[in-house]
Amino acid sequence: MPISASERRFIDEVSLALPWGLVEQFSTTPRWRPEDVNRGADMLVSKLRGVGVPVEVHEPEICLSVPLSASVTAGGVTYRAKPPSSSLCVPDGCSGRLVALQANPRALRSYNRDIATLFGGSIKSVAEVKRLVGGNIVVMLGFGNPALASLIEEWGGAGLIAVNPGVDIHWGTCTTIWGSPDLQDSVRKPRIPVVAVSNPDGQKLLALAASGGEATIRTDLLEGWFMQKVPVVTVPGADDPDKFVLVHGHYDSWDVGVGDNATGDATLLELARVLWTHRAELRRSVKLAWWPGHSTGRYAGSTWFADAFAMDLDRNCLAQINCDSPGCRWATSYHDTRSFSECAALATQAIRDIVPNAEIATHRPPQAGDYSFNNIGLPSFFMLSSTMPHALREEKGYYDVSGCGGNIAWHTENDTLEIADRDILLTDMKIYLLSVLRIANAEVLPFDWSATCDEFAATITGYQKASQGMANLAPALGATEALKASLARLGEAPVARRNAVLAELARILVPVNYTREPRFRHDPAYTVPRLPTLAVAAELPQFTDAHEQRCAQVELMRGQNRFLAAMEQARRLVEAAVS
Ligand SMILES: [Zn+2]
Repeated sequence: MPISASERRFIDEVSLALPWGLVEQFSTTPRWRPEDVNRGADMLVSKLRGVGVPVEVHEPEICLSVPLSASVTAGGVTYRAKPPSSSLCVPDGCSGRLVALQANPRALRSYNRDIATLFGGSIKSVAEVKRLVGGNIVVMLGFGNPALASLIEEWGGAGLIAVNPGVDIHWGTCTTIWGSPDLQDSVRKPRIPVVAVSNPDGQKLLALAASGGEATIRTDLLEGWFMQKVPVVTVPGADDPDKFVLVHGHYDSWDVGVGDNATGDATLLELARVLWTHRAELRRSVKLAWWPGHSTGRYAGSTWFADAFAMDLDRNCLAQINCDSPGCRWATSYHDTRSFSECAALATQAIRDIVPNAEIATHRPPQAGDYSFNNIGLPSFFMLSSTMPHALREEKGYYDVSGCGGNIAWHTENDTLEIADRDILLTDMKIYLLSVLRIANAEVLPFDWSATCDEFAATITGYQKASQGMANLAPALGATEALKASLARLGEAPVARRNAVLAELARILVPVNYTREPRFRHDPAYTVPRLPTLAVAAELPQFTDAHEQRCAQVELMRGQNRFLAAMEQARRLVEAAVS
């Protein structure tokens, strides 16, 4: 689909003048302590108002855990460390015997909680790992991520030392709580100290663990509820202003965070300016939001917005587009683009129309980023943006990181102005803008739910096979095929009706594919398998205990019922529109 003349008027307006000024300003403004975060919001707001774009600033109190300092003392030496956000705060220290576990080098950033993924076969059973971990401080290659930290705690570990893969220590988070906690979530706040150390120091600690050494971990964090500003721009659509697209990213960062995420903030700023300038040519509205609490509140800003505006989002939001780490140095590839299936064609085409020869592939988004809208059920795409080509990363000997276009300055003091790239930023801003327009101005909403049905069918077939005949997922597969057949007739419905159905289907089909918790709650921050209530089918052959085996069958029966009811509801919705 070539860029249309009307799209061209928006795209040609995109310039670096305003956004690059914000990148430069943020490059000298740390944005992680609560007062500094609010100062960042003020800078953004003044840039918006300076070009005549109205902005509303919300001031919620959100729950934060801000790392201050940490160290590891062992063998008479004190090593430098960083505490991930939400580590247990032990300023007086916590001591224990060191035990080394072997990580799966390919899953250091995994959000997955199964031991095969985390340990790559070096540990065979939960009983084995519990024996090793109980009462000890675990030292292990990785980033101290929430999935692993929560398991070490469950297995009785006294602490976790994450040995980062390089010479720099990365900031991060170790909690599975998504956003500010409610009463049910708050019990999952980590109860063990977690720290990250550099690789050279970590190697010494691993060696010490092998000789039965001990260590003392010390952490200090600032924790509590803080007022943090949430700037939101609403660009009203001329024809259907109630309906809107949400484009968003975080403006708090680790230190000055240029590639993660000043470039994203600048992108949203320029989108706001261009969309506002051409608002008379917008069919539907666009909301642009900048979140605090991403780094130190595990998405507490976007989660607050999802909760506070839940009814408006449920009724009127057509899609959410996340903007994190665009415009970074050497990031010329789009092979790691995230998208839900129904948006994959849209995302791919928008990239291709701006960068005709780009390498593009879309993948299922992880349970991360500011994807705080899955439980409401919004079509969603993009998370991290362009990234460096695989070959270049290999050539540089870089390990895998979760932002900054693959630059390993990610989540360190090195994420400074040199990580941003003007040309790449200009390109990425156009991709985001075109993607937004293709929803806001679409005559027929571009959500391909039959692609989602294909994904469901592949998932179900995979689970069926993995169950080795112990599950019967034929009803789930049949319901999926029936919905796909109904969708083939949706084109017969009048456009307004068709759009209503295309939007409403998200409220049913997104939650069933991405969440276990009910709508208007938030799932924990670790991997949600595809069609999570059916996923137990694939595990059936692994149960050795007869009682557990039966429990798993009960779980599958209930899970399949949830899925069947959702598919039935979706099919009825489509049929009502075409009959
Ligand atoms: Zn980020």
